[in-house]
Amino acid sequence: MISYEFLTSKKIEEALDYLDKFSKVQILAGGTDLLVNIHKESPRLPHFDYLLDISNIPELKFITLVKNFIEIGPLVTHFRLIEEPLIKGNFPILSTAAQTIGSVQIRNRGTIGGNIVNASPAADLLPPLIALKAEVVLTSKKSERILSLEKFLTGPYKTKLQADELLTKIKIPLLGDGYYTDFQKIGRRKALSIARLNLALVTKIDEKGVFHDTRVVPGSATPYPQSFPVTEESVNGKSIFNIDLEEIGEIVSKEMVSITGERWSTPYKKPAIATLIKRALEKIIKEAKTNEN
Ligand SMILES: Cc1cc2nc3c(=O)[nH]c(=O)nc-3n(C[C@H](O)[C@H](O)[C@H](O)COP(=O)(O)OP(=O)(O)OC[C@H]3O[C@@H](n4cnc5c(N)ncnc54)[C@H](O)[C@@H]3O)c2cc1C
Repeated sequence: MISYEFLTSKKIEEALDYLDKFSKVQILAGGTDLLVNIHKESPRLPHFDYLLDISNIPELKFITLVKNFIEIGPLVTHFRLIEEPLIKGNFPILSTAAQTIGSVQIRNRGTIGGNIVNASPAADLLPPLIALKAEVVLTSKKSERILSLEKFLTGPYKTKLQADELLTKIKIPLLGDGYYTDFQKIGRRKALSIARLNLALVTKIDEKGVFHDTRVVPGSATPYPQSFPVTEESVNGKSIFNIDLEEIGEIVSKEMVSITGERWSTPYKKPAIATLIKRALEKIIKEAKTNEN
C-alpha cells in the first residue's frame, strides 16, 4: 500500500508554499486519474511522500474573457466546459470533446488541468486544446512561465511541469471570423471509454471557400497528441467545392505511420483515422456551405 501525508490548501499561495517547502508532492485535483493510479499502485506513479489536495481552491475555478483570450482555471470540470456559454460560443470543439469524456460522475469531478497534466495519449481535451493553440501558465513560488501546450507535452504521460510548479491557467486565443472546428472520436464503449482514436480539426474557410490555417491533431494515434503538419498543408489552399477527401484520408494515415512506424494496431488505425478526418471535413464543409446560402 502506498502511504503518504495529506496536505490541503484553500489558496494558491498556500499550495505554492507547500510545493516549495516539501519535495515529492503529488497534486490532487478531481482525482479521477490519480486515485485510480494510487489504488492500482501504478508503476507510472512516481514515488511521493505528500498528497496536496488543491480541489478547494476557488481561485483556480474561473472561465473569463481577457482581451483576445479565454482564460480557464485548471479546476474547471468537464461538466462546466460543456455548459459554459463562453466555451460553447467560442470553442464548441472543447464542449463537444468534454461531452464525450467518461460518465456523468467523471465529467462532474474530472478537471481540464488534470486531463492536461496527466498527459495521457488518449486524453480527449488535448487534441482540441492543441488545435486551438492553447497555452499553459505554470506557477511556482519563485516564477511564472507560459508554454504552448504542444511544447509542454514531452511524451506519453510526460510534461515539462517542474516539481515545485502548479498549473494555474490555460489560455486560448480567440478564433477570428471564418473559423470552423470539429471533434471526432471512436471509442470502445460509448459511455465509459478512453478514446481509441480521436481527432480535432480547426480551419479557416475564406469567402471563396478556400481552406487556410488548418490544424489537425489526432489523439491516441501517436505516442502523445501532436499536430500533423503534412496533413494540414494538404488541406490548406483546397476548395470546399472540390477537395478530395479520400486523398486527405490517405495523407493523414501515412503521416501517422511516419511517426509511429507499423504497429499491431496500425491495420485498424489507418482506415479509422482516415474516416475521422473525412467525417470532420464533411461536417465543416456542410456547415460552411449552409452559411454561404
Ligand atoms: C472511468 C473513467 C473514464 C474516463 N474516461 C475518460 C475519457 O473518456 N476521456 C479522457 O480524456 N479521460 C478520461 N478519464 C480520465 C480522467 O477523468 C481525466 O483525465 C480527468 O480530466 C483528470 O482530471 P482530474 O481532476 O481527475 O485529475 P487528477 O486525477 O486529480 O490528476 C491527474 C494528474 O494531474 C496532476 N494535476 C492535476 N491538476 C494539476 C494542477 N493544477 N497543476 C499541476 N498538476 C496537476 C495530478 O498531480 C495528476 O498527476 C477517465 C477516467 C476514469 C476513471
